[in-house]
Order: sequence, then C-alpha cells, then structure tokens
Amino acid sequence: MRESARPFAPGQLLRALADLVVPLECGGCATPGTPWCAACAAHLLDVPRPVDPRVRIGAPVWAHGPYRDPLRSALIGVKERHRRDLVDPLAAALARSLVTLARWGELPDAGHLVLVPAPTRTLAARRRGGDPVSAYSRGAARRLGPGADVAALLRTAPWVRDSAGLSASARRANLRGSIHLRRTPDLPADAAVVLVDDVLTTGATAAESVRVLATAGIRVDLVLVLAAAG
Ligand SMILES: [Zn+2]
Repeated sequence: MRESARPFAPGQLLRALADLVVPLECGGCATPGTPWCAACAAHLLDVPRPVDPRVRIGAPVWAHGPYRDPLRSALIGVKERHRRDLVDPLAAALARSLVTLARWGELPDAGHLVLVPAPTRTLAARRRGGDPVSAYSRGAARRLGPGADVAALLRTAPWVRDSAGLSASARRANLRGSIHLRRTPDLPADAAVVLVDDVLTTGATAAESVRVLATAGIRVDLVLVLAAAG
C-alpha cells in the first residue's frame, strides 16, 4: 500500500495526539506547568556570538548561544521528545539573531535572504517526526517577512551514520562526499545566503555543506547555528 493512501501511520497519529497535549514542563528548565518559562524565554534574547570551529568552514560562523541549558534541553526536546511546541521560540531566536547580525553589518545588505537548512539524515529526521532545522528555518523566515526564504537544497546520502559520538576526524571522514544538492539551485542573484543548523560540534557538517553549495556557485555568507558545543 502506498504511504499516501493511509491518513495516519500509527506513529504519526500518536505524535499528532501528543502535540495536542499541553506539555507539563518547561522545555528548557523543567519548571512544571509551562511549556517555555519566562526565564528561559529571557535567555533566548541573548545576542549571537562568533564561533571559531575546529574545522575550517569557509564562511564566518555565529551561534545564538552555547550548547548549554536551557538551549540544550530545548534542542534535545524537539529532536528526541517531539516537543514541536519548542520550535516556535527557537525559530524566533534564530530570526532575532539574523536581525542583529544584519544590524551589525555581518550580513550583506542584500535584496533577499535565503536560509539553507543544513541536511539531516532522512531516516533520523523521519523517526524524530520531521526535520527540526528546516522547521526552525521556516519559522525564522516567516518572521523576517517576504524578503526571506528557505531553500532546502541539501540532503545527506542514505549511508551516512549519525555522527553523534564520533571524533572530529571521524565526522569528517563520515561526511566526505556524503552531502548532495537536492536540485539545481535557483536563488535570486542578490541573495544573502545563510546556512542554518541547530548544533555545531566540530563544524564538519557546515564545512561540507558550504563546500557543496560552492560547487553549485552558491557562496554562503554566514553560518548561523542555535548552539555551539565546546
Ligand atoms: Zn524554563
């Protein structure tokens, strides 16, 4: 049976129902009774900071914050616990960082802003109920208005392992040749291009993504992640 013929796969139905249940605790600090408390919301008002990754990336890298709570808990909540209600505050944080970076002159003064989500392993994303990085990017673009767009140009090869737990050199070996263009890019000529990811660990994914986009003539002006580890 084709998948589209079924209105709900069992897992999807459970996830849809779970989304209707009001979360009982803050996704950042586990304070009961609120999905995202005022203290954690205030934490997301931080300004972005430059990151110096171990791997050479070929574009400036900025992070909304360090990979620490409450950001860390929120990102894990979306990825592992299907806390889709946390996508919105994280997308808002991303949008705020982009506005700040534009104000600081770190983003070129362009007619368009294109956010390219870093690729997530397809299977992993499906198991986790959708690709969070694309969701953050779409939420940020929506907030930034009609000049901002999301171009999901990148995908990973199906044989790529999840790189969690791998060393920097193992990550690079795992990713080499593994990120591909989904389609021929058709970005506006005057677009500023930002590669978006949730967590930057060694920078291997960002480096490979920037390299692949360059082969298609796309220069990434900036890499923006929600949280930088290390
Ligand atoms: Zn909280």
